[in-house]
Amino acid sequence: MARYTGANCKLCRREGCKLYLKGERCTNGKCAFDHRSTAPGQHGAARKKVGEYGKQLREKQKARRYYGVLEGQFKHYYEMAEKMEGITGANLLCLLERRLDNVVFRMGMAASRKEARQLVLHAHFTLNGKKVNIPSILVKAGDVIAVKETSKESAKIKALVEGLATATTPKWLELDAQNAVAKVASLPARDDIDFEFEEQLIVELYSK
Ligand code: SF4
Repeated sequence: MARYTGANCKLCRREGCKLYLKGERCTNGKCAFDHRSTAPGQHGAARKKVGEYGKQLREKQKARRYYGVLEGQFKHYYEMAEKMEGITGANLLCLLERRLDNVVFRMGMAASRKEARQLVLHAHFTLNGKKVNIPSILVKAGDVIAVKETSKESAKIKALVEGLATATTPKWLELDAQNAVAKVASLPARDDIDFEFEEQLIVELYSK
């Protein structure tokens, strides 16, 4: 399964904002962006005039990297969003939010989406009672995501489950921390996404 394997912190510097891709390191004073926020590369610090297309492209890349999705897959979500009722840009973000790896991250089982993706790939979760190992599955309202019983025996997973006691989850996700179970109470709405996106720019980019 294809995935980005380069340096995460470079992505934040390229997008000009913290994308929180490395878990604890992003908030414990060791963040590379806090120390150097210019774009990577020899001419990264040079001031560049960014045109309309450049802004649209950067916004698309920002969303893609925030959710850890590759180009083709992102385009696929956009096409799905276009066919849905409502505002395409908001639909796109809500679709990305519904990915299983994002849900595992939001329920507090992982410090980053990348770590959540690994946990899903290693089949530590069930979806509606069935073992699952596909990070891109889109959850629906009423779906139940749980840590697999046998996985709870591993020391690593046990520690992550204990950490759920202090987890803060979005309102569309109901967490039973003790049993390590999360229920999708409703589909996430645009207002539930606590990160700044100008999704209209992404729509403009793909509408050309
Ligand atoms: Fe981005 Fe986190 Fe790296 Fe900071 S530590 S630059 S927020 S990935």
